[in-house]
Amino acid sequence: MDADSTAWERRSVVRVVPPVEPRKLAKVPFVELADGRLQGVVSSGSDIERVYVSSITAGTHALSCSTNNNRPCGALHGYACKHIRMLADEAVVQYGLDRVARYLRVEVPEGGNLMHEITGHVERTPAAVVFSRFLRHLAYLEVPDSTEPLAELHWFPATGAVR
Ligand SMILES: [Zn+2]
Repeated sequence: MDADSTAWERRSVVRVVPPVEPRKLAKVPFVELADGRLQGVVSSGSDIERVYVSSITAGTHALSCSTNNNRPCGALHGYACKHIRMLADEAVVQYGLDRVARYLRVEVPEGGNLMHEITGHVERTPAAVVFSRFLRHLAYLEVPDSTEPLAELHWFPATGAVR
């Protein structure tokens, strides 16, 4: 038994760049700072088949949330729904508070909460753009060999009809 070659084989697994802290992929499978927005995909708390596309626009802090089929989120009325809050929480985990606050152009006091400073109006942004970016992200995603179910790939079968 050659211990060196075994170690090499173990190391040959493709590595994914780790976020600042481990993320809850099942709840927020996709988050990015792009197109002048913090945007991403948030799974529904009640319905496993449904996802929300949520975003906060940099500068204006306009809030948007709808399902991947462009149905408006019923919980978004003038203040952020829980999907946008979850997205913001995950963005802070993924990128760190400083980077998210800088991108959105918001001042967060020392020890403060990002969402306390976000007071934008509701503005519907089309979910399709963000959702197709999410699907592309999945297509390029390289994952290590694992027998565990993959939270991100879980969304593939349900969304195949979108293409
Ligand atoms: Zn929502």
